[in-house]
Amino acid sequence: MPLFSTLFLIMVFFAAGTHFFLSLRQIKHVKNHRDKTPDAFSEKISLGEHQKAADYTVAKEKMGNIGLLLSTTLLLIWTLGGGLELADQFVRTFQLSPIFSGVIFILLIGIISSVLDIPLTLYNTFVLEEKFGFNRTTLKVWIIDFIKQGLLGLLIGIPLIMVILWLMGSAGEYWWLYAWAVWMGFGFLMMWAYPAFIAPIFNKFTELEDESLKKRIEQLMTRCGFLSKGILVMDGSKRSSHGNAYFTGLGNNKQIVFFDNLLDSLDEEEVEAVLAHELGHFKKKHILKRLISMTFITLAGFAMLGWLMQQMWFYNGLGMSTSSIYAALVLFSIASPVFTFFLSPISAMISRKHEFEADDYAAEQADANKLVEALVKLYKDNANTLTPDPLHSAYYDSHPPAPVRIAHLINNKS
Ligand SMILES: [Zn+2]
Repeated sequence: MPLFSTLFLIMVFFAAGTHFFLSLRQIKHVKNHRDKTPDAFSEKISLGEHQKAADYTVAKEKMGNIGLLLSTTLLLIWTLGGGLELADQFVRTFQLSPIFSGVIFILLIGIISSVLDIPLTLYNTFVLEEKFGFNRTTLKVWIIDFIKQGLLGLLIGIPLIMVILWLMGSAGEYWWLYAWAVWMGFGFLMMWAYPAFIAPIFNKFTELEDESLKKRIEQLMTRCGFLSKGILVMDGSKRSSHGNAYFTGLGNNKQIVFFDNLLDSLDEEEVEAVLAHELGHFKKKHILKRLISMTFITLAGFAMLGWLMQQMWFYNGLGMSTSSIYAALVLFSIASPVFTFFLSPISAMISRKHEFEADDYAAEQADANKLVEALVKLYKDNANTLTPDPLHSAYYDSHPPAPVRIAHLINNKS
């Protein structure tokens, strides 16, 4: 077996093993703490609600492990199992140009992968989420979403793939630099186009009608030095009872989007505190830092691809006999997560640090007690576990564990 195949296999099993090990720890830890709501939450969250969160967390972990087993198997079938090689031989029978062969090759892999993904997604939505009372989607909405997403993916994805493939094949030694520029430009274009053109395909957006809440939010925005371009409410409850809020737009012109179900469960002051936290991410430059680090990570990725596509061992080691621009692109995108999986604790750690900073900012600009109350409501409504396994949390969690986060807010205040 080629050396790179051995290395790849070791990494695949190591990554899946780590994931599985952490997941079993999480399941055990959550089960062990199922019989008692942590003291700090005992007044707000009943034992029944705490146990629901425990059961939901365990059920999601178990499904996650089944998903991991399937995706790992599929990855091995595509690569060392000869799946991509077979698809390549099929595409080559048409004798098209590398760009058109590439588009067909990528479409073929993409369509097969998303069809194989359907049963698991259906199960998660209509069995798991349904069982815990979170699902609001009907099969009809789900099918329509699936078709819209597919068409949109083709409409946006095909031109982008064609440009990248063209650069890979024709732009010379520094193609990766140009491809990176195109990729980044495309990212910024999507940041602009998403709220204006794409999100409305899936959801209805209406102006916030609650005048008193609107005034409170506008005052907060002014206090924090932002211009509000509008406050919108999105019908998130069409699909799920999980609530959320987000900002769109670049620079100081921000549009706030609330999921309708978030506004149903939080009172005015709580909404204000949650928004102050989100504004903290802007004020502390987290969004900018994330954007800059993504820029460099993407550049490193394209540079790496530029080098790998010239190495025959890269193709052979991942089960392909012939080199091509599109094979390099596909192999790189499906194999690189295996090698970068071990970096996730770093990004999770940075993200948790940012959450604390945003909480500190919220405590300055709004009422810290109200943020605590809002968080407790959200943990309860979303059935988030209050007792995650510390190691699992350190590896994956973008937000600090509930008790740590609440304690930080309360200590900070006094
Ligand atoms: Zn945050």
